[in-house]
Amino acid sequence: MADNQNVADRIDGHTILIGLMAYPIRHSMSPTMHNTSFVKLGLNYAYLAFEVGNKELPNAIQAIRSLGMRGSNISMPNKQKVIPLLDKLDPVAKMVGAVNTIVNDNGVLTGYTTDGTGFMKSLEDENLDITGEKMTISGAGGAGTAVAIQAATDGVKEMSLFNIRDAEWENAKRNVDIINKNTDCKATLYDLADQDAFKRELADSRIYCDATGVGMKPLEDKTLVSDPSWFHKDMIVYDTVYAPRTTKLMTVAQEAGVDHVFNGLGMMLEQGAEAFKLWTGEDMPVDYIRDLLF
Ligand code: NAD
Repeated sequence: MADNQNVADRIDGHTILIGLMAYPIRHSMSPTMHNTSFVKLGLNYAYLAFEVGNKELPNAIQAIRSLGMRGSNISMPNKQKVIPLLDKLDPVAKMVGAVNTIVNDNGVLTGYTTDGTGFMKSLEDENLDITGEKMTISGAGGAGTAVAIQAATDGVKEMSLFNIRDAEWENAKRNVDIINKNTDCKATLYDLADQDAFKRELADSRIYCDATGVGMKPLEDKTLVSDPSWFHKDMIVYDTVYAPRTTKLMTVAQEAGVDHVFNGLGMMLEQGAEAFKLWTGEDMPVDYIRDLLF
């Protein structure tokens, strides 16, 4: 297949459909990422975004079975609500309590979460290994939960989790409990208001991941760490935000001379690649997609 194939050339009676069910969703980069990969590899799939909220979700999930779709990505506000509608759940998705990828095997729907594996894979792409290391993470929503539980499952030794006392505080407590019960990682929860603890925990962490969304609209000019001296050179500072490409947090880390500073694009790309592999059995051409889209 040529790279510039148009829809009429590409889609035929055998094309297999994969969906993305979320609301709002029209801004998503996922359709371009997956369809470009299908063309590049000559795979007869098509990926389409559907505006599906909680109300439409049960019928939309049933449609995966009745239309013989290969599966779907799931995003807000459906990541938790979808769970009772599925037949099987991957063990990490069960711990995370959220699903972002569904695979349909002859009518049997299995839920996975690839945000955490995408995060870990994006570090591997940079030849960085955080197993056996200490991690500090802020945020315990969808992204923070997936990253923390996957990192602990994959061998991070110690984790300090910071959250504000908002609606996600209970979830932060749950994440720490789950990690301590199910993995060899020792996790501790701190109130983000305890700035002394935040500074202290960062000081001996190999990696800091901010999964709060502070740094993107409407908090574009904000960062949870504004003093470069809280960072040290040989650490990794990872912001899950990818718009803007350089967040305030990343600027502070760069000022501190931190060796490895990342936005969330690598995670976004690799969570897609993990889902792609689950549906097609093929490796997404990530370098090609990175160069083309990012
Ligand atoms: P969420 O709403 O589920 O969770 C937000 C978390 O941030 C919660 O723990 C909340 O307590 C905390 N928080 C909110 N406002 C805060 C503030 N002012 N100060 C400190 N903490 C605050 O959101 P989410 O879905 O987990 O997304 C978080 C970020 O991760 C977003 O920027 C999103 O774009 C990004 N994300 C990136 C990827 C990727 O592939 N790179 C994937 C998913 C999410």
